[in-house]
Amino acid sequence: MKKITRTYLNHLYERFDARFDGQEEFIQAVHSFLESVAPVLDRHPHWRDANLTEALLYPERLISFKVKWLDDKGTLRINQGYRIQFNGELGPYKGGLRFDPSVTPSVISFLGFEQTFKNALTGLPIGSGKGGADFDPSEASEDEIRRFSEAFISELAHHIGEDRDVPAGDVGVGSREISYFARRYEDIHATSSPGTFTGKPPGRNGLKGREEATGYGLIYFVEEMLRHQETGLEGKRIAVSGAGNVSLHAMQKAKDKGGIIVACSDSSGMITNNDGLDIEAVRKTKEKGGSLKDLADGTKTITYQSDSGAIWQVKADIALPCAMENELKEDDAKTLITNGISLVAEGANMPCTPDAIMAFLQNDVLFGPGKASNAGGVVASVFEMAQAKEQIPWTFEKTDEHLERQMTEIYRRCQDAANTYGDGKNLDQGANIAGFLRILEASADS
Ligand code: GLU
Repeated sequence: MKKITRTYLNHLYERFDARFDGQEEFIQAVHSFLESVAPVLDRHPHWRDANLTEALLYPERLISFKVKWLDDKGTLRINQGYRIQFNGELGPYKGGLRFDPSVTPSVISFLGFEQTFKNALTGLPIGSGKGGADFDPSEASEDEIRRFSEAFISELAHHIGEDRDVPAGDVGVGSREISYFARRYEDIHATSSPGTFTGKPPGRNGLKGREEATGYGLIYFVEEMLRHQETGLEGKRIAVSGAGNVSLHAMQKAKDKGGIIVACSDSSGMITNNDGLDIEAVRKTKEKGGSLKDLADGTKTITYQSDSGAIWQVKADIALPCAMENELKEDDAKTLITNGISLVAEGANMPCTPDAIMAFLQNDVLFGPGKASNAGGVVASVFEMAQAKEQIPWTFEKTDEHLERQMTEIYRRCQDAANTYGDGKNLDQGANIAGFLRILEASADS
């Protein structure tokens, strides 16, 4: 990095860190992003001189609100809700809502920041947003989840809309919650507005294939990475963390393409089967609200361990972290490397720590960064927005076909930027740079 770029970045950090003091996740995300896009500032001093880079680091607004709701005993409960409208340069704010006790302004800000470059990288006309609440759905009954969802969206209803801000789901928010949001939103505004939320159930103006899109998109991206190495998924041994929407569909698609799913995990533990897991059985168990442990009972070929993190000790060719941020740390990366891993691609948002990513890159393990490899969800959300405007339902096949094409394009953008600004091996840097350039160009034009 040139000295002048180093000095510029240090100035940005000084101001940024003071402004967001204590917001560790946000500060970490901004620093590692800027370090990786530094070659752009070295090569194109005007982006540095115009200081557009600094403007991209700060969210346009963070809406923070109290959510009051009644639990099953009739007791009044209070949670904190957020929506960050990070960057509206390229279109309506777009990004998911997360219900999880770990939600804080710092977490929402870092996710909104990441979403900015993910959405820019898709090449589609969407800005970036994120939101959620520190509400724990795993501790709530179905009725409580409905009451909470309605109370949450009542507070947010005046800040969103199909041309303004279009939320979707994320951790702890699926099509059921989106349906509660949409109904309540439409009641409040006395309108019909199929374009205000994405991730709706297909039977209620949702998009066929939206649910599968993040997991399928991850596999399409992995296929492109492998194609670049002149190989494919056939016969590859794959470990997938998480047993939610993303991981279940990724496992199914990878299996359809000839991959062998040797391990998967949920919050209760992990299971392995050297001959390949029965994904349909995993899906049925999870749908019934069961845990992976239930699958181990009674079968000898499946082994169960109560430590979910042990999944990274499995011998595999490909690892797909699809659970939560920072779930795969440096030690896990080293174990995977020792065991001969050749490709890691993120299905969740930032599941690999920066040290883990560094270890993969230094050891020539192909690494697919989440903002590219898991972009299939938000890509399909844009199809859902188009469907709402066109008022003509898309078929599952149409969604799937367009998704595959978009994921190939996203891969190409990352690879091109990695070639132009580095040795072509660092797709993490490629993804950051490709997203950064699109948004810089858009900001410079405005
Ligand atoms: N929550 C997903 C993501 O992280 C989807 C966002 C959306 O569809 O708006 O990209």
